[in-house]
Amino acid sequence: MSNSAGTLVQHPVPSYLQADHLGPWGNYLQQVDRVTPYLGNLARWVETLKRPKRILVVDVPIELDNGTIAHYEGYRVQHNLSRGPGKGGVRFHQDVTLSEVMALSAWMSVKNAAVNVPYGGAKGGIRVDPKKLSRGELERLTRRYTSEIGLLIGPSKDIPAPDVNTNGQVMAWMMDTYSMNVGATATGVVTGKPVDLGGSLGRVEATGRGVYTVGVEAAKLTGLPIEGARVAVQGFGNVGGIAGKLFAEAGAKVVAVQDHTGTILNKNGLDVPALLAHVKQTGGVGGFAGAEAMAKEDFWGVDCEILIPAALENQITKDNAGQIKAKLVIEGANGPTTTEADDILADKGVLVLPDVIANAGGVTVSYFEWVQDFSSFFWSEDEINARLVRIMQEAFAGIWHVAQEHKVTLRTATFIVACQRILHAREMRGLYP
Ligand code: GLU
Repeated sequence: MSNSAGTLVQHPVPSYLQADHLGPWGNYLQQVDRVTPYLGNLARWVETLKRPKRILVVDVPIELDNGTIAHYEGYRVQHNLSRGPGKGGVRFHQDVTLSEVMALSAWMSVKNAAVNVPYGGAKGGIRVDPKKLSRGELERLTRRYTSEIGLLIGPSKDIPAPDVNTNGQVMAWMMDTYSMNVGATATGVVTGKPVDLGGSLGRVEATGRGVYTVGVEAAKLTGLPIEGARVAVQGFGNVGGIAGKLFAEAGAKVVAVQDHTGTILNKNGLDVPALLAHVKQTGGVGGFAGAEAMAKEDFWGVDCEILIPAALENQITKDNAGQIKAKLVIEGANGPTTTEADDILADKGVLVLPDVIANAGGVTVSYFEWVQDFSSFFWSEDEINARLVRIMQEAFAGIWHVAQEHKVTLRTATFIVACQRILHAREMRGLYP
């Protein structure tokens, strides 16, 4: 095929047509198998959790600035809608696959039920490296993708939000595109919008604040003092950066940080505000003056009490789990720990606060944003943070109790609480027709 300029254009084979491996979805299925013995009569419905309700794969063509037509794979997966409309972010990343989006949508179902917000689970993504696009290309990509998934989304149907490499600006374009298509401004179609466009105060920090909140609760329950605790963080964006800042403010020492630009160490504790400013300016932690650079592979073995993976999936694996020295792992990312690694950490006595509760602060404040948009009445930041902390603390206390009662990990306990809620809703609604 040739473009308007006459050069040959290579269109890569879509990932879902490539070598068949289950990827993150396989990890999720193992987690469901572990919860099934605890579901009682609801186990009859468990197959519901093992297959997404609806998958939409879309082709997203855009004209690049150089006149070439480029095609990208886009997805929106609605895993389960038993408890309410679909809810979950949209990820722009070059490695996005259908398996990954399926798993992320399922984790949203579990997460939303774990904190008891009235949503099902959904997720979307485009297989693209947005850092290689101009602002205009990114806008065209976002708008075309939004139009293509317009069949599924809507304020009472499925509500996207930011995820890896998407932000308030991308949400503003999504909201505008959807609104143009339906002929009326519909702020409630996405959350994570800029505050001036119906966004919520506190939303940007919400996931990191939730990570910090459950971390503090777990530390109290296990007798780990936050004051002086050494913290290592992978990923220093909205989630890892904010969580690191809150831990540092509470007297912990952030000693190591890793992101796609480098791995840095300062045994005396990094100057977190200075590091955040460096990340804002340069796009990553690499080259930060107040630390020494260290080898990427040594990150997992860093001496610390608290480890926060806040980047992508499949980071803690059977190959590195044995090196981890932390007492507490708080999953800011979705799916950072494989099932094999989970078992290694449990055997070592490392307490893992699983993604499906630890990073639920983001969607909790997304829920507040959606409610505020519907009522066109906006809350103060203090009110939002107080409600967020209360929901996270209560949900975590309930999960902790279930873990003690059944002598299971916090991941299985979260799945017990959440899957019971989802399948109970499923059972009460019944099958149609
Ligand atoms: N992408 C975030 C998550 O994984 C937030 C989703 C939302 O707010 O809907 O939880």
